[in-house]
Amino acid sequence: MSEEILLDIRRLSTAFEVEDVIIPILKDITFRIHSGESLGVVGESGSGKSVLAHAIMGLLPSNAQVYNGEIIYEGRDLLKLNPKKRRQLRGDRMAMIFQEPMTSLNPVYTVGSQVVELIRAHRKISKKEALAWAVDIFEKVGIPQSNDFANRYPHELSGGMRQRVVIALAIALSPVLLLADEPTTALDVSIQAQILELIQSLQDNMKMATMLITHDLGVVAGMCRNVLVMYAGQVVETGETEELFKFPKHPYTKALLKSIPKLDQNTEFLETIKGMVPHPQRMPEGCRFAPRCEVAMDQCHREEPDMHSFSEYAGVKCWLYQ
Ligand code: SF4
Repeated sequence: MSEEILLDIRRLSTAFEVEDVIIPILKDITFRIHSGESLGVVGESGSGKSVLAHAIMGLLPSNAQVYNGEIIYEGRDLLKLNPKKRRQLRGDRMAMIFQEPMTSLNPVYTVGSQVVELIRAHRKISKKEALAWAVDIFEKVGIPQSNDFANRYPHELSGGMRQRVVIALAIALSPVLLLADEPTTALDVSIQAQILELIQSLQDNMKMATMLITHDLGVVAGMCRNVLVMYAGQVVETGETEELFKFPKHPYTKALLKSIPKLDQNTEFLETIKGMVPHPQRMPEGCRFAPRCEVAMDQCHREEPDMHSFSEYAGVKCWLYQ
């Protein structure tokens, strides 16, 4: 594939400081996103998916820090930019949709004024021009009668409409990279499908690269060309979605795929992965998945495997393939 590299994450490691204790969260995360690519990031809660997205956006909380690695975006290491430059990129060249729309919107301003403010923070245009721009963006995200709509406050809207406003804010300045962190978690099932359909159509029409974080493998299968599987703060497998779903290699990926309910199987109980994701302060020696892995060998409990690459997109971090 010949698209240029948009985002190049190299050995990214982060930690949180809680009551003078340093807690490592991400370790040596390495992957790339090309222009226009759709990448799904999957893994159980606690795998570090959201921390990864926040680190890329420069939105980690004040007690968190990136202690190693690089985030090269459009050729520049974001970790070397000053806060003002990073703010300029956010919302403009790169944007993020968060899990909970209410926390992304300011309750005391109308939704129109919030989009206008964002546009005017990045473009030198009048309020009137920015409002026309906002109405245009609202229409793009499927909000009818946008002129009236712009005067409403977030609390006057349904959850689905609020998430459409959040998406409008994210795409207002045509970012080249859109990060979506579980964008439908807070919504009813019937609205979830509409929002995912909207993100997919925007992704196709605007040729944005997208990084979709989800625990729903079915969503990734339908929307993402490539997939990255995370476990306990590390990337354990990457690949093209179709190939990886047909021929998963890492025992964790296999277990995740087995736990998806299947309509054509009449089973009483869903398969689950025994045990839990380890606490960041109590990471096991060797392979972090070893205590839960059904095919773990002695070596797995002693030494950590490297990521073994099969191609530009495919790789696996497991002793079975080294
Ligand atoms: Fe299982 Fe060993 Fe592979 Fe880890 S390295 S996933 S424990 S086989």
